[in-house]
Amino acid sequence: MREYDLVIIGGGPAGLSAAVKAYDEGVENILVVERDDKLGGILNQCIHNGFGLQRFKEELAGPEYAQRFIKEAMARDIDIMMNTIVLELREDKSVLLMNEENGMFEIKPKAVILAMGCRERPRGALNTPGSRPAGVYSAGTAQKLVNIDGYLPGKKVVILGSGDIGLIMARRMTLEGAKVECVAEIMPFSGGLKRNIVQCLHDYDIPLHYSTTISGIKGTDRVEGVYLSKVDENMKVIEGTEKFVECDTVLLSVGLLPENELTQEANIKIDRKTKGAYVSDKLMTSVDGVFAAGNVLHVHDLVDFVSEESEQAAVSAAKYIKGEFKTTGENKIDVTAGDGVSYTMPQYLDYENMDDSIIVKFRVNNVYPSRKLAIYADDKCIVERKKRVLAPGEMELLRLKKEDIDPDTKQITVKLEEI
Ligand SMILES: Cc1cc2nc3c(=O)[nH]c(=O)nc-3n(C[C@H](O)[C@H](O)[C@H](O)COP(=O)(O)OP(=O)(O)OC[C@H]3O[C@@H](n4cnc5c(N)ncnc54)[C@H](O)[C@@H]3O)c2cc1C
Repeated sequence: MREYDLVIIGGGPAGLSAAVKAYDEGVENILVVERDDKLGGILNQCIHNGFGLQRFKEELAGPEYAQRFIKEAMARDIDIMMNTIVLELREDKSVLLMNEENGMFEIKPKAVILAMGCRERPRGALNTPGSRPAGVYSAGTAQKLVNIDGYLPGKKVVILGSGDIGLIMARRMTLEGAKVECVAEIMPFSGGLKRNIVQCLHDYDIPLHYSTTISGIKGTDRVEGVYLSKVDENMKVIEGTEKFVECDTVLLSVGLLPENELTQEANIKIDRKTKGAYVSDKLMTSVDGVFAAGNVLHVHDLVDFVSEESEQAAVSAAKYIKGEFKTTGENKIDVTAGDGVSYTMPQYLDYENMDDSIIVKFRVNNVYPSRKLAIYADDKCIVERKKRVLAPGEMELLRLKKEDIDPDTKQITVKLEEI
């Protein structure tokens, strides 16, 4: 078995962008590990367009976007192991892998990039009352059945959750001949992108009911219908609001969870809000030499930002491998979410290593009309930008300049303010 300088776990858009960038930064000894039999991650089943607008100024389908990076990786001397799963990551950065050809084997690279993506929150996490008939799918499973396997999972559909995958599947199921009765969203706002609400629901006259949930599923062998109820501000079902909607299929689009079992095994600190690793502005986790990027770090709205973030992790990993990444870790400045903000990424600045400017990513925790986005270094406002509307479905980005931050700063706070 070859020795590797850099092991990248996951061959989705994050892993591929990281591999290409790390190679271009002078790391030649790279291994990408992918458990699937193809590269590209979840984009392989996203056959709709809308990918790459930021990066390539073109509207690509998911597989087309992935293919651009697969080509780039293939053109370089990057080792890729498919049908290979990483079973364990240890604190000393050793990785335990398994595949059919080699059985179980171990590699101890100089650096690791975590790029394992995320998975969907299942029905079990929701405690939906009712029986357990066939016909309940996660939206991503239905997406794979329709777009890759060529099956239509049902003909009369109710979708729970207005995250992007649910919205995309409302349109897909309609185009494939199914009737989508409605999308029910427990929150008073959607977790999806505005453009997806317009293009996937409004354009097809699919109703979206806010503050509504499934309070019961009816059916013995197959779903026969669902009970939809209104919820109050505490998300509790309001008695007497129940309505029965006949359907044979329920699709769940109720959130994504970063795949961080390996991360936790390596005792890497996890952020309670993002459910991804707690990282510095260099995207280094709490274990020296282990970096993270893409959906495993925090759930992204656009894959273009996944690629950009992964390249940033690759630049940091390359510096670490070449011994150019010097930190005493003594000047850590916390980056925290203030009023109206649900999380920030990164969670802290490694001031000594910080670039002249960095991008802070965050999401707001509600829909807000006309607010000022502000970043404070302790009590001093160092960045501000007005926005006409803010919604949790869209990731926000603000540039932070090192020259604006005093080295003695204790805390950076990102918050919303009234205009
Ligand atoms: C079901 C679903 C549908 C989506 N649809 C859209 C959409 O329509 N539009 C959009 O913009 N975004 C969509 N997204 C978001 C999309 O996932 C991201 O934009 C992007 O694909 C994230 O890239 P990634 O590389 O971080 O993760 P992924 O694309 O998920 O890639 C992660 C890769 O890591 C591999 N992996 C994980 N664990 C291991 C392990 N232990 N060993 C080896 N390999 C491992 C996985 O097999 C996978 O190939 C969707 C996400 C999901 C889950």
